[in-house]
Amino acid sequence: MDPLTRLKHRQPCFWENTTLQSVETGFDGLPLDERDILEANDRLLRFKPLIRQIFPDTRPLDGLIESSILDISRTARLIRGFQDLPTAGRYLLKADSHLPISGSIKARGGIYEVLSFAEKIALEAGLLTLEEDYAKLLEKPARELFSEYTLAVGSTGNLGLSIGIMGAALNFKVTVHMSSDARAWKKDLLRKQGVQVIEYDSDYSLAVKKGREQSQEDPRTHFVDDENSRTLFLGYATAALRLKDQLGALGIAVSPARPLFVYLPCGVGGAPGGITFGLKKIFGDGVSVFFAEPVESPAMFLGVLTQKHEAISVEDIGLSNRTEADGLAVGRPSGFVGRTVGHLINGFYTLEDQALYPYLKSLHTADGIPIEPSAAIGLAGPGLLKKAGYYQAHHLLEADITHLAWATGGGMVPRENFEAWLNK
Ligand SMILES: *Cc1c(COP(=O)(O)O)cnc(C)c1O
Repeated sequence: MDPLTRLKHRQPCFWENTTLQSVETGFDGLPLDERDILEANDRLLRFKPLIRQIFPDTRPLDGLIESSILDISRTARLIRGFQDLPTAGRYLLKADSHLPISGSIKARGGIYEVLSFAEKIALEAGLLTLEEDYAKLLEKPARELFSEYTLAVGSTGNLGLSIGIMGAALNFKVTVHMSSDARAWKKDLLRKQGVQVIEYDSDYSLAVKKGREQSQEDPRTHFVDDENSRTLFLGYATAALRLKDQLGALGIAVSPARPLFVYLPCGVGGAPGGITFGLKKIFGDGVSVFFAEPVESPAMFLGVLTQKHEAISVEDIGLSNRTEADGLAVGRPSGFVGRTVGHLINGFYTLEDQALYPYLKSLHTADGIPIEPSAAIGLAGPGLLKKAGYYQAHHLLEADITHLAWATGGGMVPRENFEAWLNK
């Protein structure tokens, strides 16, 4: 059965991207390059003194918002109990689920965009120079300036949390337009921070659209556009620079002969897309990336497969966009991301909701790490590729591959919500 038919029938599937290009040609004509990633990283470094001061959980890394890489060979052993896995390869987890400040991958892009905006208006107002200690932005003049601006965002939950927590800490007014998927505890947490939460009885795309429309009416509102923002994208891309150092510290050198396979849970595409852009820039074709989506919400998969990008939605092929993986509940992909990195993604796969829980549970049982269902989908990748005959087809020795599942969220989930997932 062809991949489009399988998507329509909600059949879990793997698709090797036929539009894939090597890095030799894949970056030609793109609107962003490596300099942009380095610039974004420098900006985050400038903010370290400020971040360090307001968020004590960033102090071990001196104000850098970064997560660990963990060996999960014990989890892999448990997964082997229900899925055939590649033998002898290395199994790692990128624990963005436990990123400081907001406990999800959105602490990269979302917080970066808030900081970029704060820097821009503070520089324009003459309140800051690039050489100064940015902790100055916590003082009264800057706080008063920021209070005159509103940050707005449309979100299924985690992006709203990141923008809300960071924005409120700097004294911005914040409005979060939440889709119906958003969990109650996220809305409560934001309201406690003084964030205005507007709830919609519909999905993510409408929440974003409404947010964008309302923001356009007010010149003092900055809308964080999850479907189009290059700033968000670059915030995510900086992860690749850090990953290079972390893998180096583990003695892992990535090359086409010793490849790194990265499994990225995907919603609208910004987070996995930005990370893909960074990874391919840093590691070249030695890295392969795979995007993972629920069977009811394969937005980016569909956009790249049909090459229609934002002109097609999962509803157009009869899917519901209803999933328990709320971070991935997006029906229409980002056209910007699809056109920028669609041809740098090695493959896509989909999974049913109920198939997520055995992975979530294995990681918790074997390695004690709680993640949310959206994040668990990455753990299914190595076995699904094996089942699809991918390693053989590419003449890869399974033992040479390092598998990295990107755990995108879950660190802030209340205990009772997590336990309900464990019992599924
Ligand atoms: C947002 C999110 C993703 C996917 O990011 P997109 O930019 O929407 O593609 C994956 N996992 C979790 C937990 C998220 O919150």
